[in-house]
Amino acid sequence: MASRLSSFALLAMAASPVFGFCGSRTHLHTRAEGGGIEVGKFGYFGETGPFKWATLDAANSACAMGKNQSPISMVDGQFNVIGASEVKLEIPDAPQGIEFENLGTTIEGVMEGSGAKINVGGTEFEMKQFHFHQPSEHLDNGTSMPMEMHMVFQSAEKEVSVIGVYIDIDTGANSAALQARHQAMANKRFAAGMKIMPSTLTNSTAAASTMLETLFSSIEEIKTPGTVVKSKPLVMSELVDTIKTGNFQAYSGSLTTPPCTEGVSWMVATQKLKISTASYEKVRNVVKFNSRFAQNTLGSTNMLSMGAETVASVSKPAA
Ligand SMILES: [Zn+2]
Repeated sequence: MASRLSSFALLAMAASPVFGFCGSRTHLHTRAEGGGIEVGKFGYFGETGPFKWATLDAANSACAMGKNQSPISMVDGQFNVIGASEVKLEIPDAPQGIEFENLGTTIEGVMEGSGAKINVGGTEFEMKQFHFHQPSEHLDNGTSMPMEMHMVFQSAEKEVSVIGVYIDIDTGANSAALQARHQAMANKRFAAGMKIMPSTLTNSTAAASTMLETLFSSIEEIKTPGTVVKSKPLVMSELVDTIKTGNFQAYSGSLTTPPCTEGVSWMVATQKLKISTASYEKVRNVVKFNSRFAQNTLGSTNMLSMGAETVASVSKPAA
């Protein structure tokens, strides 16, 4: 326990202030005149895509030069495991709903001032926002997942920590199978004259997340980049309880969007959330593709620098 915690403390100490957030220009949301939401200037393909991010602004050089870039494939050797109990995650429920925005580059839930926070190794980080990528940016031991949620936190010293949570599709198959198993068990108990507990007849862990289903029920109201809607009331405790049943895979990486600043403390949850196929399709149609390609092993040459060397070597005229 202690050694795992100290590994995060070291990781957190290595973090430097980061003035920008993965998936968003800033949690403060520079609002255009008239109260509109400014949409992102970068994209995910072509002239504004990840291969060109470093050329969009002089401040984005880390996107092409950085050696600790995110996302990465979460394979052994790339992360330290932190027990969920070592990350004190608190997210109050939102009975009034939250602001749910379409930033053009992602959809985002605003959490500034909500009281949501984490405390890791004695350092408190306030939750600023959470947003989504489709498909996932991190790879779960090499496997891409349908979506990934990023919960962005910032400390008083401007250090940034992001919790990543994979989102899978609830096909109903698992829950149906478990339900059948539970029912069979209940029938057996009934036959033996035993009392049946109601809890043996339900299975909530394999089902779609009510919190995400509720949030995404408003997705069609923010189809257009730059729009915002007040979500329905959200029970955030469901999300916290689910995440707490797993661990975190922690490493020091970067923002996955320009300016790709390094020193970000990443914690990717081992516990996944699920959404229904219908919700996934609706979200996909609004978010489209917004995932940066997986970067090289931490500490090795940036993929774009490596690509440039490759081009230079193959385009050399034959001697
Ligand atoms: Zn992100």
